Amino acid sequence: MAEPSAAEQRWLQAARDFARRALPAREGPGGPEPPPLDAVLRCLRSAGGGDLPLGYSFISISDLQCQQRMPCCSHLTWSTNEFKEWAYQGQGALPMQSTLPRTYLILVGYLTDGRQEDKEKLVDGCLYVKDNTGIIPCELLYFELEWLESLFLFPSWSYIPQTDQSAAGYLEILVDPVPVNLPKEVPDSIPVTYPASAEPLLTSSIPCEKRSKLTVAGELARLGPLLCIHHKTFFFLFLKCFTSAVWVPVLVQKPNQLAWHHVLQLGHNYTITGLSVSSLKKSGQRMFVTSVSSCLLPYCAEQVREQPLDSAWQGESTQSSSLETAEQLSDSLKLRVEEERPRSTKESKIISYAGTVTKILNVQAGLFLLDNKVCLCLAYQQLLNSARGLRPGACVELIDVHLLQKPLVSFPFIVLGACLSSTVVLKSFSRLSTPFQPPASSGNLYLQLLFRYNLGMPLYLWLVSLLEMFEERFSCFFGRRRLLLSSTHRNPGAAEKFLVPLLQAVVPDREEARDIYNEILAKIHQCPLQKYLTLNPPCQAPSLSAVCHVAEQKSWEGFSPSQLLSPLEAQHMGTQELNRRLAWSYCTLSAGSFQPRLILLGVLRVSSRSSSLQLQDKSSALPCVISHKDGSPFAHTALIGSLLQVENYQLVVERFLQTDFPSWEHLANWEHVREKKTSVYVQFYFEDVQVLYAAEGQIQKGLRSGNSSSLRKKDDGSLTSELETPEAKMLKLEDPKPDTHRDENCQEGQSSTRRTSCVSRLFLVTQKEGLMLRNYQLPREEYGEGRELQRSFQATVLWLGRPRLWSHPRETGNLPELEETGCDGEEDMTRQEALLLFMGKSLRWFPFLHLDGLYHFIVPCCSDLEVFDKLCFPPVPAKFLSRSSCPLCLPIQDTWHLQHETWMSCLTERQLAARSMLTGMDQRISSIPEVLSNSFTGSLVSFSGEIVERTLCASPRNEKPSVTVGLQKQKGSLLASDHSVKLSVSVAPGSPVVMDIYVAATYLQHLWGLLPGAKILFQNLERKISRFHNVYCTYIASSCVSIISLPASHLSFPSSPAGQALSPSVVFLSSLQPHLQNLPQARILCHLSCVLTLSLQWVCSLCSSIFKEGRCTRHSPPCPSHTGVRQASARVLVEDGTGEALVLCRNQHVAAVLGLSLLEWEALQNCVQSRGRVSIQHGEATGTGCVEEPEDLVACYLRSLCRNPLICRPILLDFSLNRKPSKILQPAPLQLRNFRCGEVDFVSQVGPRLSLLCLNVEEVEQDALSYLNSKRIRRTSSHCLVGATA
Ligand SMILES: [Zn+2]
Ligand SMILES: [Zn+2]
Repeated sequence: MAEPSAAEQRWLQAARDFARRALPAREGPGGPEPPPLDAVLRCLRSAGGGDLPLGYSFISISDLQCQQRMPCCSHLTWSTNEFKEWAYQGQGALPMQSTLPRTYLILVGYLTDGRQEDKEKLVDGCLYVKDNTGIIPCELLYFELEWLESLFLFPSWSYIPQTDQSAAGYLEILVDPVPVNLPKEVPDSIPVTYPASAEPLLTSSIPCEKRSKLTVAGELARLGPLLCIHHKTFFFLFLKCFTSAVWVPVLVQKPNQLAWHHVLQLGHNYTITGLSVSSLKKSGQRMFVTSVSSCLLPYCAEQVREQPLDSAWQGESTQSSSLETAEQLSDSLKLRVEEERPRSTKESKIISYAGTVTKILNVQAGLFLLDNKVCLCLAYQQLLNSARGLRPGACVELIDVHLLQKPLVSFPFIVLGACLSSTVVLKSFSRLSTPFQPPASSGNLYLQLLFRYNLGMPLYLWLVSLLEMFEERFSCFFGRRRLLLSSTHRNPGAAEKFLVPLLQAVVPDREEARDIYNEILAKIHQCPLQKYLTLNPPCQAPSLSAVCHVAEQKSWEGFSPSQLLSPLEAQHMGTQELNRRLAWSYCTLSAGSFQPRLILLGVLRVSSRSSSLQLQDKSSALPCVISHKDGSPFAHTALIGSLLQVENYQLVVERFLQTDFPSWEHLANWEHVREKKTSVYVQFYFEDVQVLYAAEGQIQKGLRSGNSSSLRKKDDGSLTSELETPEAKMLKLEDPKPDTHRDENCQEGQSSTRRTSCVSRLFLVTQKEGLMLRNYQLPREEYGEGRELQRSFQATVLWLGRPRLWSHPRETGNLPELEETGCDGEEDMTRQEALLLFMGKSLRWFPFLHLDGLYHFIVPCCSDLEVFDKLCFPPVPAKFLSRSSCPLCLPIQDTWHLQHETWMSCLTERQLAARSMLTGMDQRISSIPEVLSNSFTGSLVSFSGEIVERTLCASPRNEKPSVTVGLQKQKGSLLASDHSVKLSVSVAPGSPVVMDIYVAATYLQHLWGLLPGAKILFQNLERKISRFHNVYCTYIASSCVSIISLPASHLSFPSSPAGQALSPSVVFLSSLQPHLQNLPQARILCHLSCVLTLSLQWVCSLCSSIFKEGRCTRHSPPCPSHTGVRQASARVLVEDGTGEALVLCRNQHVAAVLGLSLLEWEALQNCVQSRGRVSIQHGEATGTGCVEEPEDLVACYLRSLCRNPLICRPILLDFSLNRKPSKILQPAPLQLRNFRCGEVDFVSQVGPRLSLLCLNVEEVEQDALSYLNSKRIRRTSSHCLVGATA
């Protein structure tokens, strides 16, 4: 042999270094083995045709794990062309995937099943390659037991690192390893028993203890998967008789025998020694069990001799059972298919299949895509080898798997389900550079729920889809581990809290748990995959962006503008009114409006930009309104950052339409819809919320700051990205801009004790104002650009007690401040008012801060008890004002945390002392009648009531608030700024007392939930009195609303802008006087005395001029309109025996008053079309006082109609008070008048005539009339002076 070259010498030196480090001499079975390097080199030379592979270098296991980040392969003896050919062939199924890159590394190591490793680690049936530096799992396509604990050279292998780098990857051994030392001896011949003669032992009923060991030989008919139950790992194998179909089960459960699983190949013949018979406790099923001394040997006819059963076994084989052959088995399966067909349960076929993994659908759930068309589900087999080897590009053979077509409606693939009697064999490794993501070794929620609820495939796939969606939406907030944490830990994770009730609902009482032994051993196959029923998912939890999208779609589905208006009204509307009535509408959707039922999930956060509560997931944020069923406002600051589930909710879609319909006749023509917009939000009750993941504890921890992150690392070992507290995460989500001020209060070289401590102060909210732009100049911003208007809100509060120092954020509970103030006499000290200013990030507290609430401000990382006082400043510079009564302003800092404690009304006995001190502070809410009454003084009012109606109207020109100019620029305002909304609010449903509230459109963008049916607390509205002495309110900049209760969900919300009022109560005209202003709608039974005026006209839909013969009559400037709208009005006099009233009727009510049918009315109006306008007045002579020609036929007809005695008849009239009465109404003193009612004459004292607005006219049947009259006589005796009878 020639002298080694310098390169070879260097290589040899490296090899020696490697061997010293990785392959030291070890203790062999027969004393210490020689250092193995020489043997390794001999192997290498023989593999390389005598040459050493100088182009390759040795790699130790630890170096491989630490240095190799990408999948790679190494082929010691291959030429470049051989490698290229190999790589090319491997791309067949997935041509877009790159192949494994080639490295030039020499791998030498011991093959082991882990039995000599540290004792903590269970022998789990996996195989490993190890050297002195480390150990790494490996997968082999072929394995022999003699290889265990021997040193091998691996000529061809791939290394697949794990994707998330947190654990090492594994090796795929592509070519059989070459033993470095000489192979061992083959054992001598042994006595065996064949399954045919051994099988009767299993069917006998004789107790199976104390028997001698047995050796059984046979063909491997079936190989079960490795299972781990109660920390015990085992598998079953089935040996078939060489000459018959008889087979026997063998349970392999000794740790050192688990490696057999890698050796066994279906169809091969084996001998197993040292077996005994055992039976299952539960079912009594019998099987062979290996003992510690059992050996697995390849069956070789020459090496065995059949052993008859010895005497101990004799005599028990009497019960030769009639085993079903495979054919009989399949026959019986077929039979059952026939039976099951009528109930649409399907029976899965059992098939075998070979294919290539093309995609990993979900490794945690054990779902793989084969050949781009079939889904392989391994979940029912437990996935104990971590799905190693099942990378895209790998070929698998499936034996006896269940074929399920369309188990879940939404699942796109045919499913091959492997159960415990299926065998999945890896046929070849992938040659592609595809990564390995192992399923979670413990706490795999998919598999746990699958086994716990014994789910069939359809439910399992549904569970998988829910969990995938859940993880996708929320792992960015909480981290995967925390979400999917399973109940092996004490508290169930968020996903489990979400899923378990859903599963319990669909699997209510699954009688028997899954019996895996029966599934494996039963002669007639039984498993959860046999029967299935295509599942329509019972519910869904899609992403919030999808929810919004679907809700918007639904809100326009089947929408037509004409739905929003009653045709009777709409036909008389001019363009402006018509389009305004269409501009704003809404619809509400509930969970059941969606198919399947939609469950809302979201992280509760609060946006400081919109100052609104939101549910958030990765995809989007959905504004939300939360109320309490008892009417108290929502103030749970502790819920921020928590993951909520809501199934009972109202999803509100507000629709904004920009239209230019000329008249109602064009409503079907969508060309006139210029813009469609929607805004979606959700409202629900706090009581309907389920908290899946509470953030509170985390916030507390987060506030502790400092070393908390390392603590958590210990807790759950999660990654750095998951370590952030939800709060930190929330802040980030809230505002992507880096926040430079955040740690302002924490700096200045504070000591570590200061860092962990915090200061808190308790206060009571005595007044809260709405959001608006305010011109605040904070002292510290004097030199900055503090000139701009700032969006802000303010609240007046009362400090309770002094600030307190806490070593760490405390648990909420008793409020020592209150007890303290009760006993010490320093009330002046403790009773301090302050004006809190909220701007910037502190705007997020807007939805939580409510009147009469007791809150703490918590200043984290602070020990300065004067922190609050230091930041206060007087509202105006001291030189202008020296009054000390003015409360100091306190700008709320971004880092401060608001914590709601309780409500004034909820204080306990012990705290009553403080409460009595505060009495008088909470009495500011008036009632609607109080506000309406003439004696009410005061201009700012607060009251609560239920919204009866919501209408969009034109803003009064003189009431456009100049303050809102800035607000108009903000996006999000979907209503034209010249609109305002009129809310009619009543004390209680059905109550006649109604208050009108006008809200300018610019304020509306922050006012969610103002829907008919909702009960609202209005605060600080401006009370106004109209020219007609009507009291109404306007929403001004300092006003505020909060929702007390949501619209009742049993009300189906019509697609109309207003809720329908209840049927009005029957009243008397005389009884109306005291409530003159408060009555929205009532009904009287009255007598129509006469028609005073009547006018029918066509007006231009644009300018309301008279429209005649197809065009507008306006000339300067000329009007382009081609659309006329017919209108009618009449004034009639009615009396009901207690009083007299003038009633203004419009449009269709005129027809009703005149007693005209629809057809007659239609014809009459058409006659007016050519004339433009026809009107008559009561008492006028023919041909006088009429605008039209004296002999006009229509006018004559109308006049005769009005004079007809038949028109004077009893009617039921629904009306509201005419708030703008005409001058005709003259106040008159009380007078006595005669009335006639049926057969009875009355003399009644009558007040001044009322002016009413007709809302509906109904004819009265004679029967009804006498009934009503009799009722009336009884009830009116107190009102009337009864006169003479007829
Ligand atoms: Zn099965
Ligand atoms: Zn006109």
